[in-house]
Amino acid sequence: MTEDQLRRLPAVLFEVGKVLGSDQEVGALLSRLSELCCELLACDACSVMLLDGGRRELLARAAWGLRTEKVHRLSFAVGEGVAGWVAQRGEAARIDDVTVDPRFVVLDGAPHTPIVSMACVPMVARGEVVGVLTATSGKPAAFLQSDVELLTFLATTIALDMENLRLHKVAVTDRLTGAYNREFLSTRLPVEIDAADGNERALSVAMVDVDHFKAVNDQHGHDVGDEVLCEISRRLRAAIRGGDLLVRYGGEEFLVVLPRASAGQAWEVGERMRARVAGGPVVVGDRRLPVQVSVGIAQHKLGESAGELVRRADGALYVAKANGRDRVEVA
Ligand code: GH3
Ligand code: MG
Ligand code: MG
Repeated sequence: MTEDQLRRLPAVLFEVGKVLGSDQEVGALLSRLSELCCELLACDACSVMLLDGGRRELLARAAWGLRTEKVHRLSFAVGEGVAGWVAQRGEAARIDDVTVDPRFVVLDGAPHTPIVSMACVPMVARGEVVGVLTATSGKPAAFLQSDVELLTFLATTIALDMENLRLHKVAVTDRLTGAYNREFLSTRLPVEIDAADGNERALSVAMVDVDHFKAVNDQHGHDVGDEVLCEISRRLRAAIRGGDLLVRYGGEEFLVVLPRASAGQAWEVGERMRARVAGGPVVVGDRRLPVQVSVGIAQHKLGESAGELVRRADGALYVAKANGRDRVEVA
């Protein structure tokens, strides 16, 4: 480690801790960390690649110093290129001159950031490689062994956080539809209610139930039913905003949490969801299946519990069903 690096180390590490502790979106968080790596190692570019779910491919998640349009096209199979070698072995690689290293793969396509030397280290969490962190330079032999150690330290710090984020996501997500699951709702809705009450903001929920869904299963089988549910979930998500929460509440029921929405605004969202779903048939193989939903809306009342709020939305849904389905009712 150079004296200059040693001098900057505490400040950069403090910054890394701050970034990891913030609730930034993963992409933004990783690109800031890449920037800090570049700063600390005084190199040209730095990138973070994470292994996919099947642990077969490394996909670039963020970079600093690379041309941004290139980042998301960057991927290596495990075993391919320097990054793939590092992911496969779980060992670091320090290369003084890539032109004489057989592991280095020259990427074709657009002209890229010139690379002569590089340091690439595995990101290991709970004993498993979850990605790689790479630093590159246009100069030969730009990295010392101490740089590799520094990079490894940063990689390990990031890895555990990334792995925890991933595990958290798995824990709160419904596997079939990708919507939040009911466990998530049970912890999150009370928090949303408290925030709404505390800031005297409106909050509404919409209970959505697929109309005559049993008939889809009965006529086309459960697997087709599952695909229809996934598509309905996609259509619902497309009809809501970023801060709204789509939850799979039960089999073919979804609960949508609408922070800041009054009953009237929630009705509009409900109507948009209803129209989106009914907008066209769901295509599964050569089947074209018309689908529709009924929606019950309830706006939170001061002091009301999450359970009571959901029950009122459910009551409104029942009315929507009784009034002919494919419609939205407000409690
Ligand atoms: P309604 O308009 O009154 O809501 O009629 P419905 O047929 O949708 O109502 P009901 O509650 O009687 O049926 C819901 C059906 O949803 C029953 C069940 O077979 C189906 N279902 C629930 N969960 C799943 C699932 O995960 N996958 C599939 N394929 N079907 C499911
Ligand atoms: Mg139902
Ligand atoms: Mg139903």
